[in-house]
Amino acid sequence: MYRFLILFLMLSVSCSEHQPEQKVEIQKNKKVVIAHRGASGYLPEHTLPAKAMAYAMGADYLEQDVVLSKDDVLVVIHDIHLETVTDVAKKFPMKKRKDGKYYVIDFTFEELKQLNVSERFDPATGKAVFPNRFPVFTSAFKLHSLQEEIEFIQGLNISTGKNIGIYPEIKDPAFHRKEGKDISKIVLKVLNDYGYKTKKDNCILQCFDAKELKRIRNEYKSELFLVQLTEFKTDEKLEEIATYADGIGPWYYQIIDGKDKNGKWKITNLVANAHKLNLTVHAYTFRADQLGDFNSFEELLQVALYEANVDGVFTDFPDKAIGFIDKNK
Ligand code: CA
Repeated sequence: MYRFLILFLMLSVSCSEHQPEQKVEIQKNKKVVIAHRGASGYLPEHTLPAKAMAYAMGADYLEQDVVLSKDDVLVVIHDIHLETVTDVAKKFPMKKRKDGKYYVIDFTFEELKQLNVSERFDPATGKAVFPNRFPVFTSAFKLHSLQEEIEFIQGLNISTGKNIGIYPEIKDPAFHRKEGKDISKIVLKVLNDYGYKTKKDNCILQCFDAKELKRIRNEYKSELFLVQLTEFKTDEKLEEIATYADGIGPWYYQIIDGKDKNGKWKITNLVANAHKLNLTVHAYTFRADQLGDFNSFEELLQVALYEANVDGVFTDFPDKAIGFIDKNK
């Protein structure tokens, strides 16, 4: 009897290592808020402070864009190059490629850790891309790995008793392949190591590259919840997408197509057609400081969430989206 008990305890200890506490189905009937690059409207994108803030604001998912370093570490950063959010040009001027860019893949993780991270800026002028956000090159921010961020979120899940999901995006797999690296294989390995294996593990994996996402499902046999990101002309591809993915991540201009003669926003069929195929729709990117033709952030959220009926939004301002959804409950 004791032998069985000890064996059981050993098994449960080894299985629970790195595993998220609870299992949660991706929620179908709830509007979800995905913190786009963290609470990036308030703090430099993809820094751990920006993730902590988004977590505290109550986002359902925190997003990670991932790119490989020279020594195969998955780095959480939006671009495959560094000069738009770091001081790389000052620290490693010799590492510039002919096109004037500094590629993450040319740096070891140890070198990347030496860089200071800033609010996004235009490297030609040094000016902030979003002038009213956190000031460029102030305070102290660093790059980190996907593992470090997963440990950060899983640690918060333990200390708060919540179960907040991760939402990694594999960046430019074709570029990585050209550089001799299979980024998807490494991402899947890390996710698996940290207990993200099936649709119940509160992880959504996203990618723009359709061939790659198909490969992740069919060749790597991933059982994760997969989202196909799209920019244009998604409708005709929906049936194909439904064969390997669980959802789509369209640009919101694919869903809201200008105004009609009476000044009412026109909604395309994309969300309805996706829902018919049982595809979840998480649209991007909702920014309170980049409204286009909308009069207010609330108007944009109202049209996307309740007129077009998207299931979730990627937003730089998770607090505002959460507040809006709560008011509409
Ligand atoms: Ca992304």
